[in-house]
Amino acid sequence: MPGMHYDIVIVGGGAGGLELAARLGRKLGRQAGKERVLLIDRSSYHIWKPSLHEVAAGTLDVHQEGLSYSILGRSNHFSFLLGELDAFDPVAKRLTLKPILGEGGRVLVDERGVTFTWGVLAIGSGSNLFGTPGAEQAHLLERTEDAEAFHTRLLAAFMKASFSSEKTMSVAIVGGGATGVELSAELIEAHRELLDSIGAEQRFRLDIAIVEAAPRILGGLPEKISDQATVALERKGVRVRTGAKVSAVHADRLATSLGDVPADLIVWAAGVKAAATNTGYGLETNRTNQFVVNDRLETSAPDVWALGDCAGCPWIDKDGGTEGRLIPARAQAAHQQASYLAKTLIARLGQRRVETPFVYRDFGSLVSLGENKGVGALMGGLGGPNFFVEGLIAKWAYISLHLDHHRAILGTPKTVVLALARLLQQRVAGRLKLH
Ligand SMILES: Cc1cc2nc3c(=O)[nH]c(=O)nc-3n(C[C@H](O)[C@H](O)[C@H](O)COP(=O)(O)OP(=O)(O)OC[C@H]3O[C@@H](n4cnc5c(N)ncnc54)[C@H](O)[C@@H]3O)c2cc1C
Repeated sequence: MPGMHYDIVIVGGGAGGLELAARLGRKLGRQAGKERVLLIDRSSYHIWKPSLHEVAAGTLDVHQEGLSYSILGRSNHFSFLLGELDAFDPVAKRLTLKPILGEGGRVLVDERGVTFTWGVLAIGSGSNLFGTPGAEQAHLLERTEDAEAFHTRLLAAFMKASFSSEKTMSVAIVGGGATGVELSAELIEAHRELLDSIGAEQRFRLDIAIVEAAPRILGGLPEKISDQATVALERKGVRVRTGAKVSAVHADRLATSLGDVPADLIVWAAGVKAAATNTGYGLETNRTNQFVVNDRLETSAPDVWALGDCAGCPWIDKDGGTEGRLIPARAQAAHQQASYLAKTLIARLGQRRVETPFVYRDFGSLVSLGENKGVGALMGGLGGPNFFVEGLIAKWAYISLHLDHHRAILGTPKTVVLALARLLQQRVAGRLKLH
């Protein structure tokens, strides 16, 4: 197959890459009957990653939530190519995608090469297992497939527990960051919805433990937020075990510095690390395998940029210093970087240069606690200093992040229609996916 060439090639259609492709596609449109922007992703459809804990718990259905990249490309004027990045040569400005395999490993589509004038890497990150023995047996929440696999195991465990004599099942979550906290709240909600729809004789108890090495959960957030979240979770029956370092993961339990935690299901939600393969693309990387970028998101190679979780970008404070801090791996950072890079690339096409560096604006952190409850801190833009929010306001502020993402890729009218359609669907079919 002859190689393909595009002006701008973006690898990774997640929170950052998809928004960038949509913004650039809408602005640049087609030239000589062909789109100028190509988006590549290893999946054919897009799920906003912060929703994965809901997919895992079954309170969000990927088949309804997923948006097809090809259809998004048609309405936003970018081309889409399905494939997983295999090799990247920043000097030759060429990348290669792995062959696509079918049943039994049969090659459906051969390896493909794509050349570009400008390349953008937005391939996200994965989990940091910190070399913990056995950790690879735990469920991860890196990809949609991981969340779906967990959901299948969860339904099986629910079924087993409801017909067992003990009438109990247990989940241990390693990591008391936002992912672990939100997953535990979502599992409680899924369990409660399930109990509402089965007979009394089948009801069972769900025992959830969050195991965190640090002295408190949500360590990156203000103490008041950790305290509120701990109280809310404990009220729901979640056991919050702080100061417990996991030394090994076994099939049926966690070994920790404070003793064993038995569990039917184990989820690893501690630590973020980019893919080890990032170190083989001829670009400078840091110790968590992120591509080192400057404050303009430029990598160590000319005409190659990186954004989102895969980019180690200096966090400039208001005095212009960085103190060695990097921008955190968050959807709001990827969202802001996508709009900065869209402006930069459009300016460069017009032979201009965006003079200002990328400055991350932290609007705060919000954590969903299920049932229209949330907790968090909003900063900057809204109230100047950091202020604490909880309950419905926090939950709505949390949802608005997701809506912002949809607005960037679908536009406002379609986002409203989609949100309403999903609300109605839940009213009719229920929130919990049991199949
Ligand atoms: C359960 C959970 C909850 C979270 N909650 C929040 C939250 O509330 N707020 C917040 O700000 N952040 C949250 N985050 C973090 C947030 O999801 C990430 O920071 C954000 O998605 C990063 O965006 P990204 O574009 O860099 O990468 P991603 O959104 O991860 O997208 C990467 C894309 O690249 C594709 N890809 C990866 N490797 C390859 C390859 N080799 N070839 C081709 N394609 C590839 C993937 O398929 C994916 O589509 C959460 C994360 C998780 C897991």
